[in-house]
Amino acid sequence: MRTVFVSAFLISALPTFAQTPVSSKTDWSKVNQDALRHFQSLVQIDSTDPPGNETRVAEYVKKTLEAEGIPVMMVAKDPARADIIARLKGNGSKRPLLIMGHSDTVRVDPAKWTFGPFSAHRDGGYIYGRGVIDDKSDLLAAMMTMLMLKRQNTPLDRDVIFVSEAGEEASTAPGIEYLVNEHWNDIDAEFGIAEGGGVRLKNGQPRYALVETTEKQPKGAKLIARGPSGHGSRPLETNAIVHLAKAVETIAAWDPPMRFNDTTRYYFEKMATVASPEDAVRFKGLFDAQRAPAVRAYLAAHDPVSYSMLHTSISPNIIQGGFQVNVIPSQAEATLDIRALPDENIAAFYDLMRKVIHDPAVELVPQTGNQRPGAAPSRLDTDVFRAIEAAYKDIYGVITIPLMSTGATDMAFLRAKGVQCYGVGAMLDEEDAPKGYGPHSDQERIQEEAVYKHVRFFWQTVTSIAATKH
Ligand SMILES: [Zn+2]
Repeated sequence: MRTVFVSAFLISALPTFAQTPVSSKTDWSKVNQDALRHFQSLVQIDSTDPPGNETRVAEYVKKTLEAEGIPVMMVAKDPARADIIARLKGNGSKRPLLIMGHSDTVRVDPAKWTFGPFSAHRDGGYIYGRGVIDDKSDLLAAMMTMLMLKRQNTPLDRDVIFVSEAGEEASTAPGIEYLVNEHWNDIDAEFGIAEGGGVRLKNGQPRYALVETTEKQPKGAKLIARGPSGHGSRPLETNAIVHLAKAVETIAAWDPPMRFNDTTRYYFEKMATVASPEDAVRFKGLFDAQRAPAVRAYLAAHDPVSYSMLHTSISPNIIQGGFQVNVIPSQAEATLDIRALPDENIAAFYDLMRKVIHDPAVELVPQTGNQRPGAAPSRLDTDVFRAIEAAYKDIYGVITIPLMSTGATDMAFLRAKGVQCYGVGAMLDEEDAPKGYGPHSDQERIQEEAVYKHVRFFWQTVTSIAATKH
């Protein structure tokens, strides 16, 4: 996953802490002990992807759930990369809820780690290890929720389906694609909760929670410039490199058409209520056709995450051309990373790019690697969104802001099948990623307290959505 930090300076209002309601049935100190033990065990299993070897995680999860009487399916496209599906039955009056965490992690350079990358070492209130944030904290919270529902024999209106998913980080084939294509009946749900959001802390204080409700779609294109080759001593106006350079500059300087969806409209409206006065004026300005261009220019320079949320974005990331200093090359090409708004008509967008580039010597060729299906944003008016909002408020005392991720997640596959999906997460210090302790960083750590709170958040959210109301 790509962790999103909304510029912290935008937030001026500090939250107040609310009292967490405590279920009379729940012994939280016992839950925390269990959570810590399982969390350390999960982190100590090396499931770096590639190669993954997620079956080792799946076996641990299977053993843990089965020990408490929860039936488990272990399914695999590749025997080394198994997924887990477990289901607690409800009375069927509502459609199922899917809760999911991925079992693989990104790779490590062991030389960069103060404590071993699979040590799950506790130090100064933190737990260190690859995957402690991304995504074994979600996997643990979902698994603990299953255990607690079973232990308390919680009556359910809807089935709760738990999935431990392989292959999120490097290849979706053994994980979400396999589950959606080969085991759809086993995971089909009305709602889904997975990674993609979380609570952001500044100076140790929770400031707000993000919930991913939609995401941009990875697309791509190559710009290929062609012209006659020739001797380098006789420069040509048709030089392919010159034409390519102009095209790249033109497309990078272009401000593509801005458009809101429900999530981004709500996001900027809500940010405007908690931002500093200057930023509040800017965010409100996005809704004013006269002022919006100047605000976009400001965001492009100072807040690239917010800027990217406003339109389909284009970033030139690879450029190739030429092979010898005295030869004018006949071809040069640039590879563009395009992140489309969920409802973008991409063919029409490519045509618009061709018009902007406006050079017959430069061909735009759409690329189709790393595709995820497009889907409408998950709704904000559902019981699930409200339950998440309420749990974040109870446990952390913060407001919830819906987020369109500029990166891609596996929820795209579920949303494309009609599942309303919400991306959540544990609490993280905004200062920690720049220090090199974030997801995908040289090292990774999480506050021990964040693990316990996340279990509680998950359990409270799931029971609120799925448990039978008395
Ligand atoms: Zn992840």
